Amino acid sequence: MQPPKEKQLATENHPLAAWFLGPKGEHSQTWADLFSYIFEDYVYWRRNYFPQDPIVVDRMRRRKHEPWFDYMTSNLDNILKDLKAHFPFYSPRYVAHMLSEQSLPSVLGYFAGMLYNPNNVTDEAAPVTVRLELEVGNMLSAMIGYKPDESWAHICSGGTVANIEALWVARVVRFVPLIIQEFCKKEKVAFEVKTANSQVAKIDDLSPGDLLHLPADRAIQMIKKLAQYLILDLGQVEKVVLPKINNHFHASAYNPAHKGLFAIYKKIGLLPRIYVSSSAHYSINKAANLLGYGEDSVFPVPVNAKFRMDSDYLKEALYNQPDDIYTVAVVAVMGTTEEGAIDPLHKIVAIRDNLEKEKNRSFWLHADAAWGGYVRSLFCGHEKKENEPSENFDGQVTENIRAIDAKETFTLDLSNPKKTQQECHISWDNPEVYKAFMQIKSADSVTIDPHKMGYIPYPAGIIAFKNGLVTDFLAQKAQYISDIQDGIKNLDEHSHIEAIGPYILEGSKPGAAAASCWLSHKTIPLEIHGHGKIVRTTLLNAKKLVCNLSNHKNFYDLIEDEIKVWDKKTTVVNPFTFFPLYDPDTNIVCFIATATAWIEGDMKKLDKPLKWINEFNERIYKHLTISGSDLGYKPPYAQPYFISRTRFDKGQYSYESIKGVLAPFSISQKEYEEEGLFVLRSTVMNPFYYLAEHEGKNYLLDFVKYLHLVTRGVINKMYVA
Ligand SMILES: *Cc1c(COP(=O)(O)O)cnc(C)c1O
Repeated sequence: MQPPKEKQLATENHPLAAWFLGPKGEHSQTWADLFSYIFEDYVYWRRNYFPQDPIVVDRMRRRKHEPWFDYMTSNLDNILKDLKAHFPFYSPRYVAHMLSEQSLPSVLGYFAGMLYNPNNVTDEAAPVTVRLELEVGNMLSAMIGYKPDESWAHICSGGTVANIEALWVARVVRFVPLIIQEFCKKEKVAFEVKTANSQVAKIDDLSPGDLLHLPADRAIQMIKKLAQYLILDLGQVEKVVLPKINNHFHASAYNPAHKGLFAIYKKIGLLPRIYVSSSAHYSINKAANLLGYGEDSVFPVPVNAKFRMDSDYLKEALYNQPDDIYTVAVVAVMGTTEEGAIDPLHKIVAIRDNLEKEKNRSFWLHADAAWGGYVRSLFCGHEKKENEPSENFDGQVTENIRAIDAKETFTLDLSNPKKTQQECHISWDNPEVYKAFMQIKSADSVTIDPHKMGYIPYPAGIIAFKNGLVTDFLAQKAQYISDIQDGIKNLDEHSHIEAIGPYILEGSKPGAAAASCWLSHKTIPLEIHGHGKIVRTTLLNAKKLVCNLSNHKNFYDLIEDEIKVWDKKTTVVNPFTFFPLYDPDTNIVCFIATATAWIEGDMKKLDKPLKWINEFNERIYKHLTISGSDLGYKPPYAQPYFISRTRFDKGQYSYESIKGVLAPFSISQKEYEEEGLFVLRSTVMNPFYYLAEHEGKNYLLDFVKYLHLVTRGVINKMYVA
């Protein structure tokens, strides 16, 4: 194919609707054709491996197999029948968990890969898909703004493992300078290093605290710098120096991989601390637990009313950190699991810069972008400069995001449009989120989940490291998968990584996942005209849902009029409405319903005890899911919409940090701390809302109408009870 044509195909001409099966399987014929295309091709490959070999299972024998095939098929039918009780993730009616469609190329890539069954733990078991995995790593690295020839990224089973791996790597990197100091003392080498505040000092003169708080990049490079110093400046022999350093690294009293953290802490008298937003995913606690830091070393930083980490609080805590503590890492969440909130990464980077200068301390910065990472694709591929929109939000970005195929304004057009028209201006104008995403390249490691906002089948997570040299500290010797040894191999300051298995936490893993990510990202490129289109539509649709919920009171009467046409029974309805709890940074909407009263033609909130509000919302939720003994048995056919729920409680969010969210409902601190807040939650990620609207079906409005119907039943029962 001609390159210009490919470029064009990969961008403008791609209609988003081609990328998925479609809510009713509209593209099923194409999918079926491609499945058999792959399968035939695969069988052809088998047949042409020594075609002269005999047919082992001949026709006579195959005929005898028929009864077993019947038996197997009837069991398969059982699964197929049972699977009908699955949740309809693909449907625009599913606005619940982080689940939606899978893209066509991701499914094809997976299917093709799966037939060959590669194991990406080693290229001997996956000669093709290991390469694809490394290329996927480069694609993701390029999207976040890392330099692909310096960074290193690979696929793992998901965000949990990616986060554990990031903190596992941070664990050893923090100690590298101590390991080197020990070497220099032993070898009587006067090696000089640059401290966090950029002073040149003899490594011997630095305290454990100084060394543990060196900037991550400097710690990673230090081992090469030492080798260079010994060889280039002192004239020692490379063949002697490298094994000596590597052997020391292995045996060092400060190597956590070998000695364990406990032994090191006993020596240095410092305890670890990991700062993370209180909205963080529980996998950070899991990591702290597994890696020997202990869960108590996780220091939760409160969020603000937008559920973003309070960076002022973080700054205070870092500046006033006790002397017997060392900072392992700060974890910024780019897209909190519950609210989709984006931590102010740009502010955290600025705090790190100042902390280095003013306090001579740095830290490992990890961005947990398991959920939000793909939002970064919105800011790639803009006209101005490939992958490099300006650092400052300049309105141009909003323009570019707006410029794609959707209406900016829409009308809530109910059955009687003359009576009321509610306009919502939907746009994405979020400089803080933009700035945070532009700084993701300053993080030392980044987690991104293809199996979430990448629309790729499970399992697929990505962990990316800014500095690929971290692999020097990780290699495990396993003779049967590779002959790579740990430690440095040369003086080169760039990494040339051609393997995966020796450096990762997991063992066997599906090469199919690599083929899946590769084909999807190759054909739906990670930029504004490709994957960004999907992201964009979900961000705008989330805003639309917020708008519909907030305006519910304005079309309340219209819905009631519609209901009265078919429901003559209900006379009195106790009014109520819905309140989004924040303006979403991405595409997760949290809201609650509460009771209201009509006062002079306007709808006003009624103050209700939190216990009542929680029960009210919990009962509403039960109508919007399948749960209890029905779960896994009842098919979703009779269930018009699905949502999810969560609970904000004091264990996670202090009253202080979310009082802005609670205040409009007159919820007292005491009530909140006793009860927590039950929250209705919708992840808006179906790619078809715009198209459906075009075809006359406004799902996001219809959803609010259905919510109204459910809620009106619930509230009447609440008052009777
Ligand atoms: C989902 C999520 C994780 C965990 O990812 P898995 O793929 O479920 O292991 C971690 N962090 C955040 C912010 C997430 O949203």
